[in-house]
Amino acid sequence: RSAVEITKETLERIEALEPKLHSFLTITADGALAQARQVDAKIAAGEDIGLLEGIPIAVKDNLCTEGIRTTCGSKILENYIPPYESTVTQKLRDAGAVVVGKTNLDEFAMGSSTENSAFGLTANPWDLDRVPGGSSGGSAAAVAAEECTVALGSDTGGSIRQPASFCGVVGMKPTYGLVSRYGLVAYASSLDQIGPFGRTVEDAATLLQHIAGYDRKDATSLNVSIPDYLKSVKPNLKPKGQRRIGIIKETFGEGLDPQVERAVTASMELLQELGAEIQVVSCPRFRYGLPTYYILAPSEASANLARYDGVKYGFRAENAENLGEMYAKTRAQGFGAEVKRRIAIGTYALSAGYYDAYYLKAQKVRTLIKEDFDRAFAQVDVLVCPTAPTTAIKAGEKTDDPLSMYLLDLMTIPVNLAGLPAISLPCGFDDKGLPIGMQLIGNVLREDLLFEVAYAYE
Ligand code: GLN
Repeated sequence: RSAVEITKETLERIEALEPKLHSFLTITADGALAQARQVDAKIAAGEDIGLLEGIPIAVKDNLCTEGIRTTCGSKILENYIPPYESTVTQKLRDAGAVVVGKTNLDEFAMGSSTENSAFGLTANPWDLDRVPGGSSGGSAAAVAAEECTVALGSDTGGSIRQPASFCGVVGMKPTYGLVSRYGLVAYASSLDQIGPFGRTVEDAATLLQHIAGYDRKDATSLNVSIPDYLKSVKPNLKPKGQRRIGIIKETFGEGLDPQVERAVTASMELLQELGAEIQVVSCPRFRYGLPTYYILAPSEASANLARYDGVKYGFRAENAENLGEMYAKTRAQGFGAEVKRRIAIGTYALSAGYYDAYYLKAQKVRTLIKEDFDRAFAQVDVLVCPTAPTTAIKAGEKTDDPLSMYLLDLMTIPVNLAGLPAISLPCGFDDKGLPIGMQLIGNVLREDLLFEVAYAYE
């Protein structure tokens, strides 16, 4: 089939499924077809085509796309049309990928269920009454429902891996700095990373291959050479015992759904059969990740979100008497409840008199968590734990209880604090038929090892 045919089929499928799923905030049919026609022209001219050419891809709506509305799931950016393109989406376009649309997310990527979007819920394709996870819920649902082949998300505390787990797909957060953040609307800049979703490990690896790499437009971009990730995609882990896998002791026990525990434990046996040596590893300060994150991420967010004041971007409140009132009204009307909560927490944590007690303390704990990982990686090559403590929750189940919502990210957050790469992959189903996810965590820049173990397991 031609790229245009594949694109048309994909757009028809999106049209048929969207009334139920609502994975997308914007569908870019015209742009997609134009891109597909270019790919077909290349094929007709006998040119070689790359792996992503003609492949339908969805992009989280916090990545700036030139001339295409980029809302971040927020009313304050409802009509924002960026005058520039993010580095990752530019790379996709250059690689001939067909961007079919922009996906739903929790407002400014703050959330774990996509329920914080100002533009409505996204349904989990496995059970429409349940959430797809978040904040990249739209991208995860779109991949799971085959509304696209692969998708981009962003992950600050679990926003790629947790929805991948809830939707039964593969999702990866790369090493901090591996993928350029230029054009990603900032949430917590020291934690944010862009990464791939796919239905297979190979698809995720292929997408990462195309978006990774140094970018002088991102001051935290790593200037390293990018390995060929597809070389890691091979069938087994032989020779026996060469790959050491550590299961993180502290992630089991209280709060963990027994069905999730059973699936992850069974997966360890499978990895052993595949030739891995399994050890139990301790990361004693892993559990301080969550409280540390909820100081640091809101602090950075309160600074990053100061720019939305009704002057420079998008929405501006009407009927203000003076400038101060215009700022206040714009932010009061433009931001949703969770975003306001985070700005308030962050502003408080950074204020004089509290800075040392909260922000500085949290930075120190962040270093201790990183030390736990360093010690673990002196013993093993890859760490394993569940991606999330449960399978997908019902829509509305935790919306009135932010703390219990925050607990869904218990196992993904420490990875962002340490800047490490991690992948979530499906590892079974619970008795309701909902997918369970397993998380593999690697040392800095060892995405290759994660793909190797994940592919052998898959
Ligand atoms: N759920 C976490 C939060 O609400 C993580 C979000 C993310 O990774 N963007 O902040």
